[in-house]
Amino acid sequence: MTDSTIQLDADVVACLMTAPTSGAVAIIQLRGHGSRRVLGQLTGVAEWEHGRMKLVDFSGIDQGLAVYMDSGDGCVPWAQLFPHGGPRVVRKILDRLMQLGCALRSDVSAVETYPEAWNELEASMLATMAQAASPAAIDLLLAQPDLWRALDTSQPDAADARRLLSRSAELQHLITPATVVVAGRPNVGKSTLTNRLLGRAASIVADLPGTTRDWVSGLAEISGSGNGSNGGSGGAGEWSSTAIAVCWLDTPGLRSSDDAIEQQAIVLARGAIAEAHVVIAMRDAATDWPDPEALPREPDLWVMNKVDVAEDHAASHAPSASGTGHDAEHPLRISARTGHGVTALEDAVLEKLHLRNLTLEVWAFDAALRQRLEKLARS
Ligand code: GDP
Ligand code: MG
Repeated sequence: MTDSTIQLDADVVACLMTAPTSGAVAIIQLRGHGSRRVLGQLTGVAEWEHGRMKLVDFSGIDQGLAVYMDSGDGCVPWAQLFPHGGPRVVRKILDRLMQLGCALRSDVSAVETYPEAWNELEASMLATMAQAASPAAIDLLLAQPDLWRALDTSQPDAADARRLLSRSAELQHLITPATVVVAGRPNVGKSTLTNRLLGRAASIVADLPGTTRDWVSGLAEISGSGNGSNGGSGGAGEWSSTAIAVCWLDTPGLRSSDDAIEQQAIVLARGAIAEAHVVIAMRDAATDWPDPEALPREPDLWVMNKVDVAEDHAASHAPSASGTGHDAEHPLRISARTGHGVTALEDAVLEKLHLRNLTLEVWAFDAALRQRLEKLARS
């Protein structure tokens, strides 16, 4: 891509959120007031409802999922496209987006964008803050200039650098949300839980199993039981918010089908589960865990839903009342309907992401800081 192809005055910025290598799914984000127009031109689908995921055709290049987000509260609308993750497919879709007037996110430096910043680190901090999905990122970013000054004077060694690098990778989910997928057979309550966490009636909740095409995803802000420093004990300083955004994906019930589009949806569901950072398996007293054959990988958390009605029956499946959720024998027991146990589930998700005990710690949140640590780690 040459500079002449970058349209800085475009009203939609397109950005590849996933690595430009092969993967089951890629994520392309559109951001800007023309997102709906671009989405319409790319897919031929004109109607987009906030938060409702659709299976679409990307200009004949690929089929995949897309979601449009416009909360109507003055935030800039955005959209995410989930095509298959081949470099060729992604390249073609990005080319098509440029034809439609999108600017690919270019390498305009943070200092150029934020001339008011004192130095490069502060400029990058402000740029990162503007992109960060999690409210909890704000205080942590604001603390970075001081923390890095302190680190520089403490003469860190290679081992420190390696430790900070690996911790920084975990903290990166404060900027680009981790993906959490709920998988389970039809009717166990996946959409009810999703609605509760997204705080709106985003999913279709139905007694009829298999509304396969109704995928819903959205940003869920979860805090778990945390206050102060997100449940942690050693939290220094004041946190204005410890909420952490995760991209929450409600999959259709996994079942086999002869319908071509439904089969396609199942392939995509498997891809989403394979790529997810946290996979939650859900069941209820009457319905078993998802078929292991339908899952491309082992779930991270196990959840028994509907304990409000099925206390006795469920007890025979789940002997421990204090399940940890780490295996099928000791599931977390929740009621998506009443909210019972949902905070514990949020805690378990944050634990899996290593974001439960946030403290004000050094964070290499941009490429320049990571390179500094990498150099030190090699020394
Ligand atoms: P999905 O197919 O897994 O998405 O399941 P839904 O969320 O659509 O729920 C299926 C049915 O179970 C609906 O009638 C829900 O109201 C009901 N349901 C979901 N969660 C609970 C719960 O915690 N307790 C009870 N009693 N019913 C629930
Ligand atoms: Mg559902």
